[in-house]
Amino acid sequence: MNKRNIYFDHNATTHIAPSVRSVMSRVLKSYWGNPSSGYSKGKMSAQIIEKAREQVAAAIGAHSHEVYFSSCATESNNALLKTISTHFYPDKNKIISTPIEHPSVIQTLEYLKTQNIDVQYCPVDSSGRVLLKELENMIDDKTSIVCCMLANNEIGTIQDIKKISEMAKAKGALVFSDCVQALGKIPINVKELGVDYATFSAHKLYGPKGIGAWYAKISCPLEPYIHGGHQEEGMRAGTESIHNIAGFGEACRHVNKLVSLSIKNEPFKKIFINELKAIKSDIIINSPIDNCLTNTINLTFPGIGSGDLMKSLDYKGIAVSSGSACSTSSNKPSHVLKAIGLTDEAAQESIRISFGSKTKHQHIRYALKVMKEYIEEIKSEKLNSPVKINRPGLNYNR
Ligand code: PLP
Repeated sequence: MNKRNIYFDHNATTHIAPSVRSVMSRVLKSYWGNPSSGYSKGKMSAQIIEKAREQVAAAIGAHSHEVYFSSCATESNNALLKTISTHFYPDKNKIISTPIEHPSVIQTLEYLKTQNIDVQYCPVDSSGRVLLKELENMIDDKTSIVCCMLANNEIGTIQDIKKISEMAKAKGALVFSDCVQALGKIPINVKELGVDYATFSAHKLYGPKGIGAWYAKISCPLEPYIHGGHQEEGMRAGTESIHNIAGFGEACRHVNKLVSLSIKNEPFKKIFINELKAIKSDIIINSPIDNCLTNTINLTFPGIGSGDLMKSLDYKGIAVSSGSACSTSSNKPSHVLKAIGLTDEAAQESIRISFGSKTKHQHIRYALKVMKEYIEEIKSEKLNSPVKINRPGLNYNR
């Protein structure tokens, strides 16, 4: 095992911030009463939840009564898409989305197709940017929701959600945005974005796993997703995970600081791209230069399988990924990279690097050194071997 422990996969998940950990252990120790109980012990737990709800609401520019807790963003995406589409069915049975959404959106939409919902995907350009003119033409009076993520998890593209909201509103459609990767990386104000629904996950911003939230504008329809008790206004029944909710709230309390730290990653990104290009000039940068998350780079290394590269980096103590953590084990080329025009082969020669709040210059230097050595090694193997190299571990983690 390499002693180095360099983590460049912050879009998959993040470590838990020390202040989040201490809030959570305090809550686990002292606030275990059932928040629905009418006596003081229960009421104290309920207060912890409401405080966290205010903290999440403040981080996204919402009112606290517009924030609902769930078990994760996957659940939030399922809950909103399934219940809103049912609400509008059959009068407005069309949902327009994009081909680069997270699997928790795409797979839900594919399920909704089987329930007679007309799901259409608006194409994106080679930067992953939604083609706005095409989108405008696709929205009609049968459209209930326009569903578009704010920032892409694999390539980092930030969409012009404000413009998309204006287009949707002009035609009477509601807007749903998966803001999971954006929270803690760019400033978010759901009111300014003009979205009606949005989803979030604590573990992308140094909070715990197993806790998510959704925003639903007060005037917009919302229907129960998990039936049972009256928790979360009856929309998502089940006794609340108080410590996780408190941890999410605490993580959100630091959202402005996290955004500043994420912006500090921008020079690292430039160094990385420039130096890799100097080593291997045919490297393709799949992340756009402008309007992109400052922590995210997606790169294609022609002739080098991403599985081999990831394995090599892991051996040297560096964690990177080949795309969405939810699909790395599926062995399929990334749907995001294919949607922006990459071939299956190029998609399987691509990796995602995502920096975080603790990324330092020396981490970048070390990773570049390791990558350089690896690329040189591959080059010399190719020069010395007339036959195609079949490196072991080609399918590693893909
Ligand atoms: N949406 C996006 C854009 C994501 O990147 C992720 C996680 O990778 C999710 C949704 C799902 O979040 P969770 O892990 O909370 O289910």
